[in-house]
Amino acid sequence: MAAEQFPAPDVPEVAFLGRSNVGKSSLLNALVGEKAAKVSGTPGRTRAINFFALLDENRRRKLVFADLPGYGYAKISKSISAEWPKFIEPYLQERETLGLCVCLVDSNVPPQERDGQLLAWLRSVGQKFVVVATKVDRLSGNVRTRNLAALKKGLEIEEILAVSAKTGTGIKELWARIEATGVSGQGSGIS
Ligand code: GDP
Repeated sequence: MAAEQFPAPDVPEVAFLGRSNVGKSSLLNALVGEKAAKVSGTPGRTRAINFFALLDENRRRKLVFADLPGYGYAKISKSISAEWPKFIEPYLQERETLGLCVCLVDSNVPPQERDGQLLAWLRSVGQKFVVVATKVDRLSGNVRTRNLAALKKGLEIEEILAVSAKTGTGIKELWARIEATGVSGQGSGIS
């Protein structure tokens, strides 16, 4: 996949990133349901970026969600994208319409070095991000609180948004964050 295959950078974009199996597809479904249309990318080709356009009432593109390939469990080396296709790093760094990166971590799993490295890299290139802890429905109150605190500490972040694609916890809050970046879904019938 080359940059020319990306859709024209005409509307604000939000990228979704996370390790394989973190719950990214489920979260995207919970966020947009049936309202998104795939605008490029080949189904089943998980190493490509899948772009989804969210449409307004006139079926014009309002917002694009970019579903990035899940990264693996391999130990990271010098470059953040060592195990990622070559186009990911330039995409995150240079895509002019990219307003927010939604970085997913599993609330059931302790902080992972790989996720910390990704966040450090995003900070270093000045890319805005929000960290989302997935699958919180699996955790009871106390364990949830403890795990979220451990993730905040381990990943050196001020804020973490707890979500569940299964119960809908946090989905509204995540939409609010997406809209707060100047990427507006309001009044479009997509939120
Ligand atoms: P992806 O590889 O990051 O796209 O992850 P998927 O969305 O395919 O989810 C990976 C696994 O986690 C699947 O077995 C899902 O059913 C499960 N999963 C995803 N989201 C949730 C959630 O909110 N709650 C629970 N309990 N399981 C989830």
